[in-house]
Amino acid sequence: MLREWDGSIALQDGLQDRAWIESMIRTACPDADDVEIELSRKSTRRLPGGRDEAKRRLARTDPSEYGRTRNHLDGAVTQLSAYLRHGVLELREVLDFALTSHRRGSIEKFVQELAWRDFYQRVWKQIGSDIWDDLEPYKTGWHANDYADELPVDVREGRTGIDYIDAFVRELYETGYLHNHARMWMAGYVVHGRRVKWQAGARWFLEHLLDGDEASNNLSWQWCASTFSHKPYIFNRANVLKYSGDRFVEHDANDLFDDGYEAIAQKLFPRAVVMDEGAGVRDGGGGFGSGAGGRSFWSKPEEDDAMDESSPGGHLVWVHDGMLSADHPAMRGLMDGSACAIFVIDCTRSGRDRWSAKRWRFIGESLAEMPVRVIASNDVVATILGEVERSGVDRVVTGHSPDPAIGRVVRRLESQVSVEWVKARDFVELEVGVDLKRFSRYWAKAERRIGR
Ligand SMILES: Cc1cc2nc3c(=O)[nH]c(=O)nc-3n(C[C@H](O)[C@H](O)[C@H](O)COP(=O)(O)OP(=O)(O)OC[C@H]3O[C@@H](n4cnc5c(N)ncnc54)[C@H](O)[C@@H]3O)c2cc1C
Repeated sequence: MLREWDGSIALQDGLQDRAWIESMIRTACPDADDVEIELSRKSTRRLPGGRDEAKRRLARTDPSEYGRTRNHLDGAVTQLSAYLRHGVLELREVLDFALTSHRRGSIEKFVQELAWRDFYQRVWKQIGSDIWDDLEPYKTGWHANDYADELPVDVREGRTGIDYIDAFVRELYETGYLHNHARMWMAGYVVHGRRVKWQAGARWFLEHLLDGDEASNNLSWQWCASTFSHKPYIFNRANVLKYSGDRFVEHDANDLFDDGYEAIAQKLFPRAVVMDEGAGVRDGGGGFGSGAGGRSFWSKPEEDDAMDESSPGGHLVWVHDGMLSADHPAMRGLMDGSACAIFVIDCTRSGRDRWSAKRWRFIGESLAEMPVRVIASNDVVATILGEVERSGVDRVVTGHSPDPAIGRVVRRLESQVSVEWVKARDFVELEVGVDLKRFSRYWAKAERRIGR
């Protein structure tokens, strides 16, 4: 029974849950082989999904230590990004935790990094799918046409011969997570070292990162590329060594970045005519910074029964991939039986849009803690409308999102049924029309409001 659902399913112990999650992974990514699926479960470094795990991790976070060590690969970073991306945790919740457990002065860096996420979400909301276009020209002396469209095979396979790049590729595939600094080095290497369009790198990351989202990902790639910043981001080997402990050898003749910044800039950007102060070089130091058409395979009978209990005049919650928490405000009402919730796997997502088995495991583990029915479908809108009819409800409620793909579903639903968007709490309340051209302009306004 839905209202008696107590969230106590232990994923690790429950064979049924493991089998369920695996059948979900196979449905969501049909071309994933047994090895990929097995690896997504076995990796000792994996990030398990679910709100309980997210809360444990939040409680272990040390925002003041973060400020001192975050640039180091083994620094006190939080690894909360996948939970934030999928709405398992709210950004505001993390902010509140930091503000209530620490003095404001000791957590400035932490708050500012959280703010980068908020900033990128706001930009996404403003520009929508244009997030895939160059927001500005490259400031590298090269034109966009000079960059290759596709990611080189040796990069994709982690065989570049550059020790740290190959190590990060392996880490990305194994864990679905990379430290911010490693992401920046990878982006600098791919876009400037190999002269590949940032979009190719961004698509690749989105396939593998558990936290992959078009806002933080694409805009970070654009920042490194210089299509959303004043200068291209470059680094050198000494910088990688400084922040990586003793993981990599000191010198490597194959590494284009084993040099001084001026020399690297000359090699990478010989056509840059006028370089402003800093010679086009930026070492960020990690600093920026079965319904209609659908097939149901949720087989827990008690939950299916519960779906039938929703009363006429109630609502259906459409749970999308950015709100995987039973505590999301859109989920209110579920426990009193006046609503039911569904998550629809869009089976038309494939090829470039495909997410890894690891990511689907993370999503499955988060969903398994929620009172939600999961449906696989080739038509998300028809499936939601089918469930509305089947449940005899008259309204769809869902979480607010800047993701244009979610907006498109909502607009199509709205032509047939009433839809309510429920917002999670704002990270910071800002007046409409804040200048989002650069983080610094946003931050000048946001900083004053946070925690006041
Ligand atoms: C090329 C590139 C691609 C990236 N792709 C993504 C992505 O797809 N999804 C994603 O969430 N982040 C992305 N980032 C931003 C950042 O690297 C990650 O959010 C961060 O490394 C996640 O690790 P963490 O949770 O340990 O972060 P922490 O350092 O512990 O930071 C805490 C939280 O603050 C936010 N945050 C911190 N730094 C940034 C930043 N620079 N930009 C935006 N938010 C930030 C994240 O939500 C993060 O979980 C990307 C950065 C680069 C350079």
